Amino acid sequence: MSEYSLDTYTCESCKCAIVVNCVWEPGGMNDYGGFIVQCRSCNTIQEIYVGRDVNSSSIRSGAILLGRYDRDLEGDRETTRQRHGLD
Ligand SMILES: [Zn+2]
Repeated sequence: MSEYSLDTYTCESCKCAIVVNCVWEPGGMNDYGGFIVQCRSCNTIQEIYVGRDVNSSSIRSGAILLGRYDRDLEGDRETTRQRHGLD
């Protein structure tokens, strides 16, 4: 059975709260990674490192989810950042 927790991140620009519903599978396959998000308050696009499981986790409030990357996939973080204009 999946477990979850609500984790609060802070926008790097306006410091408003971005709440992530972090989901993971105890003892199962969990892909670690992060999100590229756009802040709903100031529209800044930024990366947040979420951890496990990046494909099941989602944004609860504060930002729009633009993309996900898997930390263990070669080059995935870089290409996902570039796709959204970071770097
Ligand atoms: Zn912001």
